[in-house]
Amino acid sequence: MDVDHLPTEISSVLLTEEQIQERLEQIATEVDADYQGRDLLLVGILKGATLVMADFVRHLKSHVQMDWMAVSSYGSGTQSSGVVRILKDLDADISGRHVLVVEDILDTGLTLSWLVRNLSTRGAASVEVFTLLRKPEAVKMPVSPRYVGFDIPEVFVVGYGLDYAERYRNLRQIAVLDPRVYGG
Ligand code: 5GP
Repeated sequence: MDVDHLPTEISSVLLTEEQIQERLEQIATEVDADYQGRDLLLVGILKGATLVMADFVRHLKSHVQMDWMAVSSYGSGTQSSGVVRILKDLDADISGRHVLVVEDILDTGLTLSWLVRNLSTRGAASVEVFTLLRKPEAVKMPVSPRYVGFDIPEVFVVGYGLDYAERYRNLRQIAVLDPRVYGG
């Protein structure tokens, strides 16, 4: 799906397909260099990170393994509380492994800091984070991602894996929804 197919629902395009792919390629080059000679396990957070993961791994030049977690954050409305429940845990034992968590977006960062703590208690050799997008609030968190695709303003975005009510995940671009969509 393309923003051109949604003329009344999208107010602006924040990131084009080309911008996303170019940045993924740059980060893949960094990750290849940083983890050279080490066995890397990428942990994607469902469902939002599926598209980031799919494109990111194809830019890498080293062998990696992939695993997935699904978590749900308790909270009121759109505000996450930092209390997290695991809906789908890893298949792999991560003790002694170098883990890179792949996330779509960091907002408050509460979910991620819980996740990093949780994975660290499992005896991983290292736990780092790659987030495609980061909002201003996340900058205040003690856990900082090693790789950040783009710092974006405090707006609600959809597309490229990110949803609103489970829609727009298959949009090629990252875009700002028209407020009329929220209204009804
Ligand atoms: P936090 O960092 O606040 O714990 O939570 C991050 C999660 O909130 C993301 O994984 C995502 O599911 C959701 N989220 C935060 N900001 C946005 C946004 O702008 N658009 C969408 N679609 N989801 C968001």
